[in-house]
Amino acid sequence: MTADLSPSVDWNALYVDGEWRESESGETIDVEDPSTREVITQVPAGTEADVNAAYEAAADARQAWAAHPPAAREQVVQQVLRTLQDYREDVIDLLVAEAGGTRVMAETSVQLASDQASEAATLPRRMKGEHAESNIPDKEHLVRRTPTGVVTVISPWNFPLNLSMRAVAPAIAAGNSVVLKPATNTPITGGLLFAKLFEETDLPPGVLNVVTGRGSEIGDRVAGHPESDVVAFTGSTEVGRRVGAAAGKNLAEAALELGGNNAHVVTDGADLDAAIDAGVFGSFVHQGQVCISINRHIVHEAVYDEYVERLTERAEDLPRGSAHDPSTVVGPIIDERQRGKMLSYVEDTVDAGATLETGGGIHELDGVEDSLVVEPTILSGVTNEMPTACNEHFGPIAPVIPFSDVDEAIEMANDTEYGLSGSVHAGDVGAGARIARRMETGHVHVNDQPVNDEAHVPFGGIGASGVGTYNGEAFLREITEKQWLSLQHEPRDFPF
Ligand code: NAP
Repeated sequence: MTADLSPSVDWNALYVDGEWRESESGETIDVEDPSTREVITQVPAGTEADVNAAYEAAADARQAWAAHPPAAREQVVQQVLRTLQDYREDVIDLLVAEAGGTRVMAETSVQLASDQASEAATLPRRMKGEHAESNIPDKEHLVRRTPTGVVTVISPWNFPLNLSMRAVAPAIAAGNSVVLKPATNTPITGGLLFAKLFEETDLPPGVLNVVTGRGSEIGDRVAGHPESDVVAFTGSTEVGRRVGAAAGKNLAEAALELGGNNAHVVTDGADLDAAIDAGVFGSFVHQGQVCISINRHIVHEAVYDEYVERLTERAEDLPRGSAHDPSTVVGPIIDERQRGKMLSYVEDTVDAGATLETGGGIHELDGVEDSLVVEPTILSGVTNEMPTACNEHFGPIAPVIPFSDVDEAIEMANDTEYGLSGSVHAGDVGAGARIARRMETGHVHVNDQPVNDEAHVPFGGIGASGVGTYNGEAFLREITEKQWLSLQHEPRDFPF
C-alpha cells in the first residue's frame, strides 16, 4: 500500500461496496485532537440511507465470500497484518492525534491489533465440523461450521484499533461480511483506517463496509438492521442494553463487551512493592480509560496507610501532559463530557467524606488551564458506596478502600453489577488464587493488575459487563453456525 494515513488526508468518505463515497446528507463531523483541542479532520455524518446501503452491499457479498477457500480468506487477513506493520508508525501517530493515546497506549494498540489479526488468520483452518454415524441404515451425519452471514461491529473510542480488529478480522476470516460503525471520537482508527487496510487486499467489494456517524442518529438502525445476523458491540453498559434489545428483536446473535468496576485486592500478606507497581499501571494506563482498568483498590488495614502514601507519591511523579510528548504517561481524557463526569465523581466522593490525597483537578497544558488532562488522583478513606467506587469512573483516579478480613474484601469486590476483570495480591500464588476463585468476574489476575488481553485467550464479562466471548475459538463460535447435513447413501425404508 502506498497510502498517506496522516490526519491531513481527506477522510471525508464512507466505504461502501468497495467504493469511497460522501454521506447521503453531505454533512460532516469534526474530529478533534484531545491534546491540542484542534480539529484535525472531518468525517461523514452517515445517515440511515448510508447504513442501508452498507447492509445491502454486505448482504449481496456474503455468499460469494463464504465460498472462498480457507487459504484465500487467510491470505486477506495476512495482507492486512503486513500492511498494519508496514504502516505502524503512521498508525501510532493517528492514535496519538485522534484518541489522545500516549506512546504506550498507541504501541500497545498496534501490538494487540496485530495479535488479533495473526490469530484471526488461523481461523479459516480451524473451522472444523463433526461427523456422526446414524441409527438409520446407509445414512451418515456431517455437522458443518459455516459463517453466520452479516456481522455488525460497533466499537468504542478508548482502544479503537484493537477493539475493532478483534471483531472485524475474525468475522472476515470466517467468511462473513461486515458493517463497521466506529465511535464518533475515533472514526479513523476504529473505522476508516480498516477500509484503507482491507482495500489493498484481495477482499471482494462489499465484504467490509464502514459507516461513520453519530450513534444517537444511526445507532439504532445499525444495531437493529434486518440484514444483521450478529452484533459485536463493545461500549458502555447503558448503550449495550439498547443494542442487545435491538439485536434480540431481530433475532440476531449479540456479543456485548460492556463496562467494568474492577477491584485490585491487596492483603496484609502481599508483596507491597509488586502490588503498588501493578496498582499504578492498572489505574493510570491510558488515563484509566480502559474497561479493565482498576476502578477500586481494596487494601488490608494493616498495610493501608503505607499503600496510600506510596501510591500517592507514585501518582505525583507520573509525567502528565500532551499525548504527543513521548514521555507523557497520563495524557488527555477523550472529551469534555467524560472529563466532567469523572471530576464530579471525585468531588462527590470528597463530599461524602473521603480524603483527596493528590490530584482532583485539571492539569494546565501549554498555558491552557482548561485542558483535557486530569491530574492523577488518589482518594483515601473511601467506602464501596462512594461515587468513584460504585460507578465506572473511567479516569486517572484511584479510590482506596480499607478492609479488615478477606471475606469482607471479597464481598466488597463482588458488590457491583459488573463482572469484568480484577486482580489479587496476597503473597504466594496459592493464597492469591484462593481469593481470585471467589471473585465474580470474567477474568481475574493473581499477582498482577486487571489490564490483560491476549488474542488467543477467551475475553468476556459477566453480569452487566456483557454477554458473549471474544478472542480465538470462543469468538469463532459467536460468528459461525452449525449446519447438520445428513447424507442418505441408499434409498431409505419409510413406514408408509
Ligand atoms: P458508548 O458510548 O457505549 O459507545 C460505544 C459505541 O456505541 C460507539 O460507537 C457509539 O457511537 C455507539 N452508539 C451510541 N449510541 C448507540 C445506539 N443507540 N445504538 C448503537 N450504537 C450506539 O461507549 P464509549 O464511551 O465509546 O466507550 C466506553 C465504554 O466502553 C466504557 O463503559 C468501557 O468500559 C466500555 N468498554 C468495554 C470493553 C470490553 O471489552 N468490555 C472494552 C472497551 C470499552 P458514538 O460514538 O457515535 O456515540
